[in-house]
Parts: sequence; structure tokens; C-alpha cells
Amino acid sequence: MARRPDTDYDVIIVGGGVIGASIAWRLARNHLRVLLADARAIGSEASTAAAGMLAPGGEFDQPSPMLDFAIGSLGRYQNFVAEIEADSGLPIEFRRTSAIQIALTHTELESLIVRAALQRTAGIPSTVLTKDQLHALAPLVRSDAIGAVHYANEAIVDAAGLMTALRAACLARGVTVEEQSRVTSIAATRTSTRALLGDKSIDAASAVISAGAWSSGINVTIDHHPYPLPRSYPMKGHLLGYRLPAGSIAATIRHDHTYVLQRADGFSIAGSSTEDAGFDRTIDPKIVADIAVRASSLLPALRGLQPESVWIGFRPATDTPAPNIGRVHSSRLWLAYGHYRNGVLLAPATCDQVCREISAALE
Ligand SMILES: Cc1cc2nc3c(=O)[nH]c(=O)nc-3n(C[C@H](O)[C@H](O)[C@H](O)COP(=O)(O)OP(=O)(O)OC[C@H]3O[C@@H](n4cnc5c(N)ncnc54)[C@H](O)[C@@H]3O)c2cc1C
Repeated sequence: MARRPDTDYDVIIVGGGVIGASIAWRLARNHLRVLLADARAIGSEASTAAAGMLAPGGEFDQPSPMLDFAIGSLGRYQNFVAEIEADSGLPIEFRRTSAIQIALTHTELESLIVRAALQRTAGIPSTVLTKDQLHALAPLVRSDAIGAVHYANEAIVDAAGLMTALRAACLARGVTVEEQSRVTSIAATRTSTRALLGDKSIDAASAVISAGAWSSGINVTIDHHPYPLPRSYPMKGHLLGYRLPAGSIAATIRHDHTYVLQRADGFSIAGSSTEDAGFDRTIDPKIVADIAVRASSLLPALRGLQPESVWIGFRPATDTPAPNIGRVHSSRLWLAYGHYRNGVLLAPATCDQVCREISAALE
């Protein structure tokens, strides 16, 4: 692969969430010299906050290129995790637990069935569960639930564990990791990029902006002209963590905007909220109480239990219906941000696309 020996790095990656860290790791695996810069620490934002559902059936109603991208990404997950485990030496919890979307009324069940039929034509497999089948599969679900749709292919990953392993895999593959290093600007041309990290200027053949909700705050020029990036902004979400007996919730349980999933050790995550509140990091007790009520209505075993932990994160939203992934014109700058509610799910496919394009451009 052709290198630019006159530059400090082959690629600088701005932002070390699941998107940037996976791209950095993969490029370094392909023997490129990579700098991964993060304003805080690798995995300190949305990617570690995520619940870790890998769940196209909960997210997509209609056929679309983005759904195909998501299905492809889910199909890649097992290998993605295995490769990161091998490079990092750290285990990552990834399990095909499946997911169940429950119905409380006949009208609700009818509309879930119609939606599932449409989803099946788009490539998301599912089956309809009778009341008895539902309660056999999910005995903790409220007893008046009358049926459900079961998404057998869906999975969960421990997003925080994935980020710890990705950081280690990056280091093992020789990525230069610079934490507490905010990139303020990138000047890209058709042949090179220059990034400003504090008062340091770094030259790299190519650059990737993967700074999640913060991405469009970075000043960019393309061929010396200002280039306004597509807007990114935060959609805050709260999550609650409970301790339940391990194995008591086999599949992820969903109803409307509420879900509960369980990790192998019994740690159970209930979510969520969607708040247009800027980068406000405060935990709101009213929102916590609301999620606790909704979750314990779904699973009465949670009633009266205090959450062991509560946290927030900023989903990276954009004005476009899909994330911004790809090269900016013919310059050496790539964008990889705006994955909103599905960045953990979409990481393998995003990583594949960006790495393929960058490698092709360097040839
Ligand atoms: C409550 C909640 C639940 C979620 N649940 C799920 C789920 O179940 N499944 C799923 O697939 N997705 C889920 N998501 C969405 C998922 O977390 C995001 O889509 C994904 O983490 C985005 O990854 P990212 O790498 O783009 O951003 P981030 O993880 O936010 O990483 C961006 C990084 O860029 C750094 N940065 C910012 N500015 C700069 C700068 N100027 N210079 C250098 N570095 C910078 C930040 O410090 C940060 O580390 C959830 C999100 C939230 C908030």
C-alpha cells in the first residue's frame, strides 16, 4: 500500500467512540500509521453509555439502504468481536439473546404483526408468539401481555466492554492514542490533511471525523475554502442499571419506548429517554423515576428495586435520515458520524466502508 513518508501519519482519526476506535484499529491492522485523538478518553461518551442492543427489528419499519447496512453490520458482529478479542486479549460479551416486542392489547398486537410482516419482506426475520409462548420464553413479563413478536436474530453486546477491548486492540496494533486532545480544525486537500490538536499541528495523508455529537463543531476547510459540515447535535438519553438473578431475562423485552435487557452476570439495563437538552450532563430524577415506572410495569420483578446505577449519554443526531459516512468530495477527509440510536450496531459496517475507501485512496 502506498504511503506518504512526508506526513506524520497515514491517517488521523478524530474521536475515539466505537466508530473512530474501530476504524483506527482496523487501519492499523492493515499496517497504516494511525493517530487516534480524543477530546476526553477513548470510549468516554455515547459508545460506553449505550445499552448495547443490536436490534434492527426495534429500529426499522421499512426496507431502506440503511436497513440493509444494519443487517449487514449485525451479520458481521460475531467476527468483529472475535477479531477485537484476539487483538486485545480481552473477552467481550456478545450474545444472540433475541428480542421480544410485547403487546398489551389486540389492536397493539395487530399493528405489531403488520409491521413484522413488512419487516420480514425487508430482511428482518420474526415470528408471532401466542400468550403462552411469550410467558414461557419471558416469565418475568407482566402477566396481562397478550402476545408478542419474537426477533430471533437480535443480539446484545456489552458496549463498555467492547470499548475497553477496542482501546487495548488499538494499542496492541500500534495506534498512537492521544487522549485529552481536542482537534479544533482540519484543513484537507486532494493530497493531504492537517489537523490542529491544541497548539500542535499534525500532518496526515487522510483524516476521519468521528467525533459523534460534537463532529460539526470542528472547523474544516477543503482546498483552503471553509466547508460547513452537516450538523451534528446531541439527543440525551438516561439508562438505569439493576441487579437481578443471572439468566432471569433471556431475551431483550421491548414495549413502546421502554426496553429491558440482561447481561450474562445479571446486570439488567432499562431504558430509555430521548431529550433535546444539549450537552447537559445532569441526571434528572424525574426522568429516572419515569423510566423506573415504565420498566417495572413491563417486568413487575423490578418494582421496588433501587437501580444500582444511573447514567446518561449523548446520541449523535443529524438532520439527515442516515449517518454521514464517506469521503468529502475528492479530498482526503472522511466523515463517519451521526449514527444516532444505532452506532454500536452500525460500527462493523461503518468501519468496513471507511477503511475500504481510505485504503483504495492510498493505493
Ligand atoms: C442512552 C443511549 C442508549 C443507546 N443504546 C444503543 C443501543 O442499544 N444500540 C446501539 O447500536 N446504539 C445505542 N446508542 C447509540 C450509540 O451509543 C451511538 O450511536 C454511538 O455510540 C456513536 O458512536 P460515536 O463513536 O459516533 O460517538 P461517541 O461514542 O460519542 O464518541 C465520540 C468521541 O469523540 C470525542 N470527541 C468529541 N469532540 C472531539 C474533538 N473535537 N476532538 C477529538 N475528539 C473529540 C468524544 O470525546 C468521544 O469520545 C445509545 C446511545 C445512548 C445515549
